[in-house]
Amino acid sequence: MASVESVSGPIAADELGVTLIHEHLRTWDEATHLQWPSAGTVREDPPHAVEPGGDYEEAVKAAHAAVELGVRTIVEPTAMFLGRDVAFMRRVAEETGLQVIPCTGIYTYDYLPTFFASRSADQIADLYVHDIEVGIQDTEIKAAFIKCAADEPGVNENIEKLHRAAARASVRTGAPIMAHSRPASDTAPRQIEILNEEGVEPSKVQIAHTGDTDDLDQIERILETGVWIGLDRYGLEMYLPYEQRQATTRALLERGYADRIFLSADSCATIDWFPAEAIEGMIAAGMAKDWTIRIVPERVLPELRESGMTAEQERTIMVDNPVAWLTG
Ligand SMILES: [Zn+2]
Repeated sequence: MASVESVSGPIAADELGVTLIHEHLRTWDEATHLQWPSAGTVREDPPHAVEPGGDYEEAVKAAHAAVELGVRTIVEPTAMFLGRDVAFMRRVAEETGLQVIPCTGIYTYDYLPTFFASRSADQIADLYVHDIEVGIQDTEIKAAFIKCAADEPGVNENIEKLHRAAARASVRTGAPIMAHSRPASDTAPRQIEILNEEGVEPSKVQIAHTGDTDDLDQIERILETGVWIGLDRYGLEMYLPYEQRQATTRALLERGYADRIFLSADSCATIDWFPAEAIEGMIAAGMAKDWTIRIVPERVLPELRESGMTAEQERTIMVDNPVAWLTG
């Protein structure tokens, strides 16, 4: 039986159970927090001390909610620049019983610090392989997958290098890749092309945020390459309203793609990217609605069942696909 690395150690693949493929327990700007802890964007002491209350409490609340709704595992794609902190994740997992699958990788759309700008794809891959084979942040916790991203600036020089680094670490270790994409500028084809050039099997590649479009032709062109796709931002109305997301999922089920899709919300139990008043304004403007870890188990799945999703299709999407992607 294959196993999958979690923040609490390896888990037998058949123990993953119902899995949300893309949820964050905390998203914060690690450099800002380290330099200006007084800004109070993260309500605990740096770097790893976990105080009661604040971000930790919110993460535990989200994890408890997921467990109560029947979720056993979340795939947690918080990489560098999103504030990855596996000790924090492990505390949340231990307190709630939620299984948490961590990653390695760098989340950026263009910028790279000089440390990485001056290093090759192979040298960056070495760091990823260390996280996968030795452990993350001086712990024994190993990364189960590799994250990379392309967004509005496109697949520029830095982004290409990070995709090649992710690909080389994947080829060396067998770890799968989650690639954040931006359907509005159709970044996925070039992302897939680079990973292919490096010899990564499409079955190891998940194109995250494909569900930010409801253009079925565009989605099917991605599926034709053999990769997995994430319909993974339920509640983020600013990219695509909920009903259009559901219509897309239903259409893909009708077309026989249950064995190629993931459902998730890309929720963040807390996020420090915006001042509090800006977040209130975004919610008031309807840019995000019910954007929580609860939305898929509590609302999306029951509605899909009502419109004809079979128990077998649901098991495929929520249980079997995560195992297949994570174990290759
Ligand atoms: Zn995310």
